[in-house]
Amino acid sequence: MKASFPVFDAHVDSLQRALDLDHDLGTQTDGHLDLVRGRRGGLTSVVLVCFVDPAFLDPETGGPGARAALLLREAHRLAAKHPEQIALVGNGEALDRAHASSLIAGIPGIEGGHAIEEDLERLRWFFDRGLRVMTLVWNNHLSWIRSCREGAGPEIPEGLSEFGREVVREMNRLGMVIDLSHAGERSFYDVMDTTSRPVIASHSGCRALHDHPRNLDDDQLRTLAKNGGVIGIVFHPGFLDADARAEEVGLRDTDEYRALKGRNESEKFLLQGDFMRARATPLSADCLVAHVLHAIEIAGLDHVGLGSDFDGIERGPENLEDASCYGYLAEALGERGLNRSEVRAVMSGNMERVFREVTGGEAVASLCSVQTHLE
Ligand SMILES: [Zn+2]
Repeated sequence: MKASFPVFDAHVDSLQRALDLDHDLGTQTDGHLDLVRGRRGGLTSVVLVCFVDPAFLDPETGGPGARAALLLREAHRLAAKHPEQIALVGNGEALDRAHASSLIAGIPGIEGGHAIEEDLERLRWFFDRGLRVMTLVWNNHLSWIRSCREGAGPEIPEGLSEFGREVVREMNRLGMVIDLSHAGERSFYDVMDTTSRPVIASHSGCRALHDHPRNLDDDQLRTLAKNGGVIGIVFHPGFLDADARAEEVGLRDTDEYRALKGRNESEKFLLQGDFMRARATPLSADCLVAHVLHAIEIAGLDHVGLGSDFDGIERGPENLEDASCYGYLAEALGERGLNRSEVRAVMSGNMERVFREVTGGEAVASLCSVQTHLE
């Protein structure tokens, strides 16, 4: 597939493979996304997410902050090892420089606010080392924000706690992009009431098309638009389509799936992906296109982008299996009537706008100066 549009992917989990399996993402690897296939697909900007599995909440592991720091170091290592392919960027100016040199702009992010261990000082520590996006909460509820999953105990606030509001204000002040994918509904609106900057929902779908708690309903889409934010449509079949989800849930409930093991979670996850691709009915990319079009219809063209969740999902839809395939989506959007500038806005322009707007400002340094602090 010939890449004809620049792509901003707002959420990929590939750093875990790099850390746990020693995958060099500057070369072609197993899994969904590496720089080689990304370039083939037109990837120009990517949020490299430090996903902190709640298993790392166990202090025996060193704690969630330590895990996030190790993942963040992988992002810096990748950029140091492949300066001809990628540069980590902390603001719009650095992003422009990277693009002018035909480099992929890598933007470090954290998925799961437990990584800051209820400490704004730690949030600033991550910011100083290049973090520019934080998904406030993953599927585990935190003392300061409720996730979209059911089962929160009485100690969990319905939305954001006062400390949660402080996190939002501090991210606004620093120039970090707030990501509301995985947040509970009340948390979503509490953040919207608190933030002074646009936010993203980096990897979600539309609830009107599939009633899943990870997706945004139309009121949320309208609120996101009013905020100036952007939804990144996720590639996960289980969030895009009810039948695909039912089938995946059934397949995960088999002895064969449960018997899959690797030397660590990242290797197991690759095996689970192989299993799912081999057994599950492929989901047509039309389904993803439908979510993009619905989000455009409700939120408006300026508020829709992409967040594949590559390497955090077991499989993508048909023809969108890995990072070399983004061009297929651009083509499909064109066929559905979007003109070139509209396709470009969805593929990269809208996410780029939010990144620029939030990270802009004098206080934001280029990441070159902080790289060495990380060891
Ligand atoms: Zn996620």
